[in-house]
Amino acid sequence: MLELFLKLKHVIPDDYVKTVYDISWADIKLTGIKTVFIDLDNTLIPYDVSIPNQDIEQLISSIQSFGLQVIIVSNNRGTRVATFSQMVGLDYISSAKKPTQIGFRKAEKRLGLHRGDQILLVGDQIMTDVLGGKRRGYKVILVDPINLSSEKWFTKMNRRLEKKVIKRIKREDFESYQRLHLHEKR
Ligand SMILES: [Mg+2]
Repeated sequence: MLELFLKLKHVIPDDYVKTVYDISWADIKLTGIKTVFIDLDNTLIPYDVSIPNQDIEQLISSIQSFGLQVIIVSNNRGTRVATFSQMVGLDYISSAKKPTQIGFRKAEKRLGLHRGDQILLVGDQIMTDVLGGKRRGYKVILVDPINLSSEKWFTKMNRRLEKKVIKRIKREDFESYQRLHLHEKR
């Protein structure tokens, strides 16, 4: 039921790719984006991993090499997010409470940004990342979750809702459903 109360435009990402490694950061830069808010769990690392590997470190350097500012915005608790972020040398907001605007506001303030600045959000969940990001006016790229099996009960609940949302997108906006390859998802 809940999925019917959401505005359709708030649950449809601007783009979908399989992993963060499939994003063309050069193209992102060309669109005028200056800042990247990036989700942690199941976007950069699965829930059962806590430290970055070399691929992630390279990815972050590569994003920054385009002059893009990066900050981790995670719903997870402080210690996990802080440890990871420090290891990759990034600023972070933990307990961000996505899809609310709380963590996004904090991140904007931390970086001296304003609502309406060119911000890209990258994340793996429609119910937290896409919904929160689109409501805030960000550009949002949805990625596949790295590993579904290690997700906790509340994330599994979000996934069930997400499936209903995807069905609704299929019903009401078939063009986006096809363009974003949502049939391949989950
Ligand atoms: Mg996530």
